Amino acid sequence: MNKLDAIRHTASCADATEPGLLSVEQAEQQIFDLLRPLRCIQRVDIRSALGRTLADDVHSTINVPPHVNSAMDGYAIRAADIPTDGTTQLTLAGSALAGTPFTGRVKTGQCVRIMTGAKLPDGCDTVIMQEQAEVEADCIRIDARHRAGENVRQAGEDLLLGQTALPAGKRLQAADLGLLASMGMGEVNVTRSLRVAFFSTGDELRSVGSQLAEGEIYDSNRYSLHGMLQRQDVELIDMGVIADHPDALKAAFENAAQIADVIITTGGVSVGDADYVKTMVAELGEVNFWKLAIKPGRPMAFGTLGDALFFGLPGNPVAVMVTFYQFVQPALRYLLGQKELRPFRFQVNCASAIRKRPGRTEYQRGQLGIAADGRLQVSLTGAQGSGILSSMSAANCFIVLAADQGSIAAGDPVTVEPFEGLF
Ligand code: AMP
Ligand code: MG
Repeated sequence: MNKLDAIRHTASCADATEPGLLSVEQAEQQIFDLLRPLRCIQRVDIRSALGRTLADDVHSTINVPPHVNSAMDGYAIRAADIPTDGTTQLTLAGSALAGTPFTGRVKTGQCVRIMTGAKLPDGCDTVIMQEQAEVEADCIRIDARHRAGENVRQAGEDLLLGQTALPAGKRLQAADLGLLASMGMGEVNVTRSLRVAFFSTGDELRSVGSQLAEGEIYDSNRYSLHGMLQRQDVELIDMGVIADHPDALKAAFENAAQIADVIITTGGVSVGDADYVKTMVAELGEVNFWKLAIKPGRPMAFGTLGDALFFGLPGNPVAVMVTFYQFVQPALRYLLGQKELRPFRFQVNCASAIRKRPGRTEYQRGQLGIAADGRLQVSLTGAQGSGILSSMSAANCFIVLAADQGSIAAGDPVTVEPFEGLF
């Protein structure tokens, strides 16, 4: 064991299983019982709609594409003119370009030079690729290998007039902006972004840019939280570091409850002498303090302060991220009216052996990658203590080990949940 590993090994905290811990499922249930989706609608330009949540179903007001058109550069013909065997000659009657249709009607024995996206001339129903036609002066010659209707895109084949193009609750992605534009819609109704106020608690915390005195550490939680929140449909209200002092905490909570839909704090929810968050929020609102059967992230508080929801996350940096992804992120998405609340979970072989005792749901930090045989696999990213942010930084997924699960041997399948990308 090298020096760094030795330090980390001895630093990780003891893991006695206690009775009376709340399971992940029970905690989720209690959270969701209290949530009501926000019903506040804004109309925004589609260019500002990325990552926002669609407030209503969007129905297509036109057919997309609006007209039958060519999928190829070639020649528009009547299917009835395709020879049953041998070849046939068709006379060129004109040309159709994207945006400049052929205006006449194509008769038997005629064809029209056509470009991709051009409206199919009246009378035509089939397009011959130019590579499959022999051009002879003002005629073309085609053989019998063609199929009626080939290389033609039907009107409405992407979106039919009146159909639901996008469902309410969808988190808009780049393709959705394009889809809205393809129907001619420049604006869209979305739910108002959630206002989320957050602060760190702890006398030992200093913000980046200041010098550390003895016994102090830099506040990292507020920055991880900033990053996680920024990827949600959220207006961030960063309230800085609040000291472990009842008056300071009270003022911060009262202020936050006035301006935010959701308040998130880190630290101060365990049973230490300076854990004033508990006493303060208990005085100001309806809050439950949980000891969760999860690792990392055992203590957590949840409830309401006035009209605002409150999540009191643990202090340890990895525990903050685990509890955010597990409990806060799905709740934020639900409040916004989204339907896809959680990332995909799937099974993959684990290259590392993992020691685990039954009792708590564990979120080990994993790196999904490609094994030598070309298959997806996951490996542990290193020391798994709840204060070891570097192993979270090296990770792209959680390896989720169910409460009743024991140790994992290298090569065993495990459940993973990616937390960057994919959702
Ligand atoms: P607490 O729950 O307040 O007792 O904090 C548990 C552990 O997390 C302590 O070691 C704290 O110093 C640490 N911690 C709390 N808040 C932060 C923070 N914002 N950034 C980094 N570490 C923190
Ligand atoms: Mg503290």
